[in-house]
Amino acid sequence: MDTTTTDTITLVTGGNKGIGHETARRLKEAGHTVLIGARDPARGRAAARGLGVGLVALDVTDQASVDEAAAQVRAEHGRLDVLVNNAAVNSVLAPLERTGAQDVATLLDTNLLGVLRVTNAFLPLLRRSAHARVVNVSSTVGSFALTLEHGMFDWEVVPPVYAVSKTALTMLTLKYSRELPGILVNAADPGYTETDLNDRQGTQTVTEGSDAIVHLATLGDDGPTGTFVNRDGAVAW
Ligand code: NAP
Repeated sequence: MDTTTTDTITLVTGGNKGIGHETARRLKEAGHTVLIGARDPARGRAAARGLGVGLVALDVTDQASVDEAAAQVRAEHGRLDVLVNNAAVNSVLAPLERTGAQDVATLLDTNLLGVLRVTNAFLPLLRRSAHARVVNVSSTVGSFALTLEHGMFDWEVVPPVYAVSKTALTMLTLKYSRELPGILVNAADPGYTETDLNDRQGTQTVTEGSDAIVHLATLGDDGPTGTFVNRDGAVAW
């Protein structure tokens, strides 16, 4: 166990593909010691090998898996400096009247409770860092202001339950930022990015989609906490 190095130890959940994979690549390039979390061992190994980063088996919906991941990072690194809560799933396009409660529970289990599980399990390790940051990957589709202003997130465009999960995640971020004054906790909106999450319909590259995450993961000690930003700046709540 080494708690004295000046390395930045960084974990990206759901890092085996998409925006998380690109975030891991860029943070490694920036000099971080990067670990990707992956729920599927084969996909995780392939991605970690390709990126040249460490691998942690991590299913954010499984408390035992989350606890084992935290134990592994503690044993190997002694602390965590940057936690990127990136893992998420989408849901089908359907109005709420045709959405079952179990479908909502399943989605929230990953997109909201997964972040809570992982953050709480890793908090003791983040508290051992002199420069701890948490980046929660949220979305503008969870913004009240943009939904009201533009009416652009109707159910034909964005699954309502996915939007609800991101609204809740943005608030969770704000709440953690108030509870954890020693840690910079912020939410990033990647923007509409070409990944499997949207059947490759997104208009941005994964590099563009990871800009706000990388920015928040590399904040200086005087950086903000409790903010919600995309690659262009603040996102309306
Ligand atoms: P993606 O390509 O589908 O990647 C999602 C990642 O999350 C995958 O690695 C997936 O692993 C992982 N994951 C899902 N459930 C998990 C679980 N239970 N435990 C651990 N890992 C799990 O999607 P993406 O577009 O890169 O999304 C990354 C983040 O950006 C998400 O938070 C998403 O909501 C957010 N976002 C995306 C967009 C966009 O336009 N793409 C816009 C706004 C926000 P598997 O490979 O095992 O499925």
